[in-house]
Amino acid sequence: ARKSADEAQEQRLVQNLARIRHQVLVLSGKGGVGKSTVAVNLAVALAFAGKRVGLLDIDIHGPSVPTMLGLVEAATPLSKDSLVPVEIGSLKVMSIGFLLRDRNQAVIWRGPMKMGVIRQFLAEVEWGDLDYLIVDAPPGTGDEPLAICQLLGQPDGAILVTTPQEVALAAVRRSVAFCRQLSLPVLGVVENMSGFACPKCGAVTDIFTAGGGEAMAAAMGVPFLGRIPLDPAVGADCDTGHPFIHHHATTPAAQAFARLAAPILALDPTTATATIPANTNPNARDNHTMKIAIPTAAGKLCPHFGHCEQFTLLEMDEQAKRITGQQLLTPPPHEPGALPRWLHQQGATVIIAGGMGARAQGLFAEKGIAVVVGAPADTPENLAAAYLAGILVSGNNLCDH
Ligand code: ADP
Repeated sequence: ARKSADEAQEQRLVQNLARIRHQVLVLSGKGGVGKSTVAVNLAVALAFAGKRVGLLDIDIHGPSVPTMLGLVEAATPLSKDSLVPVEIGSLKVMSIGFLLRDRNQAVIWRGPMKMGVIRQFLAEVEWGDLDYLIVDAPPGTGDEPLAICQLLGQPDGAILVTTPQEVALAAVRRSVAFCRQLSLPVLGVVENMSGFACPKCGAVTDIFTAGGGEAMAAAMGVPFLGRIPLDPAVGADCDTGHPFIHHHATTPAAQAFARLAAPILALDPTTATATIPANTNPNARDNHTMKIAIPTAAGKLCPHFGHCEQFTLLEMDEQAKRITGQQLLTPPPHEPGALPRWLHQQGATVIIAGGMGARAQGLFAEKGIAVVVGAPADTPENLAAAYLAGILVSGNNLCDH
């Protein structure tokens, strides 16, 4: 009888996973670096972009997802042989925290029990059809993350969260090695708690030596997904259950979370239903084509719009959410009004910039060209993907030259 129960569970696991298009693990080398914070905000960003998302919290020793989403009082309806996730819009959430009667209870799990509960969460939760399952995995490189990878079969990959301190960087190097051993693609490294975002002016000041995550990612040959500053509002929101990205959409930390979602959204280009402003520009060849111009220096957005030596012009298929053409152009010599005129001639329908003077903004508006200011110094591809996904919104004008 035991054997057939195991077989039945195995079968349910396979059936459940077959209905999930993409699986992404959020891992960290050590605890307390913001892994759950990243998992929650990523899941919310994907749900905002119109995806059907599941968020599974199997951080057995410290399930914090219920607190972060304000679901502490939520109970999981327990049917006889399945677990029903808690739904918030298009986001379905399951956490080991829902099953603990007393949230201050310390759980002492023996190894086989941990494996059992992880297996149960994948096999017996009614996830239904999902575009993404985001898994908040236990920290480290031990049995539990190993079990999840093996049970999932072929996850799309892992996002590794670290902080700038050397202990955390050493731990995340081990996570990269762990992923390699399991042939689990590393989707990228995020450096969290990287600098301090001033709540008054938004300026970011480094506290620990920042940039270690980026250097580490480069040295190990894995993508770097960006830095998220320490922001007191992130901590407060985690405690009160308001997903940060939603409540503070224009802060540097929220924009960093949003950028993190762009490469994950790119895994699933076909079903996105992002809201894109109506295109009224006669330059648009048809309803599905847009041209995004981004001032560029050394492969990344250059914050000084008027003094940029090159512009990347990306031709995008709005429906298929993909880049169909790309050019690097040199603008005419600097003189007032020259750039808007020239970019209009190039067929631009959207400008993504760090900052821009009021006069140029007015000239673009007259020509029906949409302008996004306050964009971070990221690659044109990432910025365009974030724009198409509806998660890059105008923030503070970074510079008005
Ligand atoms: P982990 O899952 O790695 O253990 P958590 O996501 O639970 O880490 O984060 C640990 C604590 O740090 C939480 O209280 C969270 O609110 C806080 N925190 C995480 N990232 C930030 C940030 N960028 N700014 C401020 N506080 C943060």
